[in-house]
Amino acid sequence: MQRRALVTGGSRGIGAAIAQEFASRGHRVVINYRSRRDEAEAVCEAIRLAGGDAQCVAFDVSDASQVAEAFASLSIDEDPFQIVVNNAGITRDRLFGAMKWEAWRDVTRVTLDGFFHVTQPLIMPMVRMRWGRVVNISSVTGVLGNPGQVNYCAAKAGLIGATKALAKEVAKKGVTVNAIAPGFIETEMTEGIDAKVLLARVPAGRLGTVDEVAGLTGYLCSEEAAYLNGQVLRLDGALG
Ligand code: NDP
Repeated sequence: MQRRALVTGGSRGIGAAIAQEFASRGHRVVINYRSRRDEAEAVCEAIRLAGGDAQCVAFDVSDASQVAEAFASLSIDEDPFQIVVNNAGITRDRLFGAMKWEAWRDVTRVTLDGFFHVTQPLIMPMVRMRWGRVVNISSVTGVLGNPGQVNYCAAKAGLIGATKALAKEVAKKGVTVNAIAPGFIETEMTEGIDAKVLLARVPAGRLGTVDEVAGLTGYLCSEEAAYLNGQVLRLDGALG
């Protein structure tokens, strides 16, 4: 069955792989990005060249008015989303003693306010359709904690709480809400970190790939995953 899917932060990394996974499953994909239009357009173009249906839309998930404006232009009332992946995320790492409030604010706004701005308008249409899939890309650090990331861990842990609570609200209506908690995945976000330091911590002895996260997301958003709800799936090479 073809669905309409929104992937926030879909212009590169994990989000781009998820968008491609949905397209390969025959879904119509809307790819959100904030600033790097060329990257987002390249992902859309690749999907279209492969015969898929993709559209790019710029908005900052942490800005309520930008999200509302974008949703109006996407006609979400007439053509609702059945799938949303809250993937957009940032890091502003610093030991807590030296962390500025702005770093706390920016990270929590993108992850938590972003989840609210994007998911809240989409959830009731899913409930009315009696079918919906919400996937929140959290992090294993939101489960385990990580020094230098008090802001990021708090935001990702908060996203897990939101996942579990929302799943309980909508489960009866055919809507599932799950979180994926990836470990270290090879993307721009992990580029600056010393590979030896990372690998020393991962029992699997390698970083995860964006396709591994995308494959799991594709499954969570499938018909088959209807009874898998309110869960946090760690994809971390046995890190946690
Ligand atoms: P990248 O930094 O490679 O990509 C981030 C994406 O998010 C980009 O498309 C970026 O778009 C978009 N984005 C950032 N801020 C906003 C915003 N305010 N509004 C809309 N879009 C935004 O990250 P990854 O692919 O590595 O990570 C994706 C998700 O996975 C994040 O939530 C991250 O926290 C999580 N994660 C990643 C891990 C890893 O090891 N890589 C591990 C665990 C979790 P633009 O450039 O246009 O701003």
